[in-house]
Amino acid sequence: MIIILKNDVDPQGQEVNQILEYLSQFPEVKTRASYIKGTHRMVTEIYLIGPTHDIPIKVLQHMPGVERVVRVSNKYRQIGRHGGQLGELGFEYNGITFNQECLHNFIGPCAVDTPEHVETIFRNLKALGIQTSRMGAYKPRTSPYDFQGHGKACLPWLFELAGKYDIKVISMEVLRAVHIEEIQQALHEAGNPTGVMLQVGTRNAQNFELLKAVGSQQEFPVLYKRGMGLSLEDSLNACEYIASEGNRNIVFCLRGVTTRLGDPHRNLVDFAHVPVVKRLTRLPVCIDPTHSVGSKDRAPDGIYDILHVAAQGVIAGANMILVEFHPRPELALCDGPQALTMQDMEYFVRDMEIVRKAYLERKALAARAVFKKWHPEEGAK
Ligand code: PEP
Ligand code: MN
Repeated sequence: MIIILKNDVDPQGQEVNQILEYLSQFPEVKTRASYIKGTHRMVTEIYLIGPTHDIPIKVLQHMPGVERVVRVSNKYRQIGRHGGQLGELGFEYNGITFNQECLHNFIGPCAVDTPEHVETIFRNLKALGIQTSRMGAYKPRTSPYDFQGHGKACLPWLFELAGKYDIKVISMEVLRAVHIEEIQQALHEAGNPTGVMLQVGTRNAQNFELLKAVGSQQEFPVLYKRGMGLSLEDSLNACEYIASEGNRNIVFCLRGVTTRLGDPHRNLVDFAHVPVVKRLTRLPVCIDPTHSVGSKDRAPDGIYDILHVAAQGVIAGANMILVEFHPRPELALCDGPQALTMQDMEYFVRDMEIVRKAYLERKALAARAVFKKWHPEEGAK
């Protein structure tokens, strides 16, 4: 059960105390308050965990400060929409808003290599007015002999360069809890010139200790990438792990799933799940066209497969795009063959703008269509 409090209720105030006092009659029910700075308002929710069936919902509903009481199903208790009873949960991080309405481009290399390459990318992003990027410092590789990322050694100059070019959020994969501390320390020592979204990669999609580690801190938001061999349900449950530890600033990323049925793409593109995740959960949804496609092939129409696929996600309402670019793909230490180049950057951004516009038009059309169904005489005017 979740008690959603009114907008202006003081989490430490009289109303909350009164609710908690009432609930103390049910000693087996544990309460946990959660304060979320949403994009539209401060959301205070009290979660009731345990045998809640005897608690009279009507009494709670009429208590001062209560906006709504929602009985939640067992599934996705914290991240779920519970059949439309709960709205989306957006958040703001380092001045950038993430919710189910926004769209951000996270453009950058698979792996950080040289300051010159990173600076070229940031300079191009700044010229396009983009303040978000992706940069891998800790790389989980299939072969132990492949480049594993520069690790914490590159963080000081990377963060400094990000600050120089006004990059507000960098998505960066972490493989172990200690990486979170290394990022925190490097940001601190650099004077927090930028922010980091902690990425949980597909290979760690069910690494429950890592999920708990990113969930039990509140400083950094989390980009969770769907397990490449996991059902959507299992991946969403993994996000529930993160949220249940206390961090609900999560973005869910679709990145394709492994099956030979996707050949010749590296993975089978799963962006049809964008609206599904938005309907089932309160989380913003990201798409990763690079790892879904895994090559730089173009269709006869001249459009890269990566862009065709990204367009499929954006036209379905994606909120974030994670995509790999490198100034010299032939020199990249990881995933060079699928990286787009600086010449492609503006083209990519403009193409996504076209599709985003089409999505917004589709959304407006849907709203008008629903209106017509409900008020046929006005809709016909
Ligand atoms: C990445 O985004 O750098 C990455 C390794 O992706 P994934 O975990 O989806 O393979
Ligand atoms: Mn990669």
